[in-house]
Amino acid sequence: MASFSDLSPYLYCHHARRAGTVNIGWIDLSPDDPAASFPSLPVHFDLESSEPLPAEFIEKLWQFCACSCVHYRGFHLCNLGECAKKREFVMPQATCNGRTISVGCSEIRVFGKRGIIYAAPTLIFHYITAHGYRPPMAFIDAVLHGPQPGTKGYFLRMKDLGLDYWRLRANGKYKMTCFDEPSFWQRCWIRAQNGARRLLERRG
Ligand SMILES: [Zn+2]
Repeated sequence: MASFSDLSPYLYCHHARRAGTVNIGWIDLSPDDPAASFPSLPVHFDLESSEPLPAEFIEKLWQFCACSCVHYRGFHLCNLGECAKKREFVMPQATCNGRTISVGCSEIRVFGKRGIIYAAPTLIFHYITAHGYRPPMAFIDAVLHGPQPGTKGYFLRMKDLGLDYWRLRANGKYKMTCFDEPSFWQRCWIRAQNGARRLLERRG
């Protein structure tokens, strides 16, 4: 992964760059990355905060992570604090209300006010719940009040952007929403047309 300042323009994955997209929660303290050392940490940690983030925000953020886009072939390990010491090569997990998903291999999109799009790695859930990372208020507000994953509004925003995403279904399996694929009814229509064409060809 890489480290980017919160609210800086999103440039990480070239085929997922869209106008108005900004970074949130891109934290990488790899010693190999000179931009990611503690003194210049570009994000805000508030381990002492007396005000925990609302449970509703955590629940909704998990739903965003269960509906992720820009999937990578590999995955990124958390390298903050105790996680860095463990050095376990195990994909990080995010659990909420008894449901667990893997994180660190994809991104989420959250839609804010005035056309702003927040791009965060799914590891943001872990950074917030395990390490006290505090995202900007505008992002928290967008997660709470913006289009929610699984709704038509969210689907249309992602479709407009041309970003495919995977959505966790109730049965625990992922379903990919691919906007280039014809829908069920479009496939039926194409099949019917092909059948009619073959019939006409046979009749000669
Ligand atoms: Zn960690």
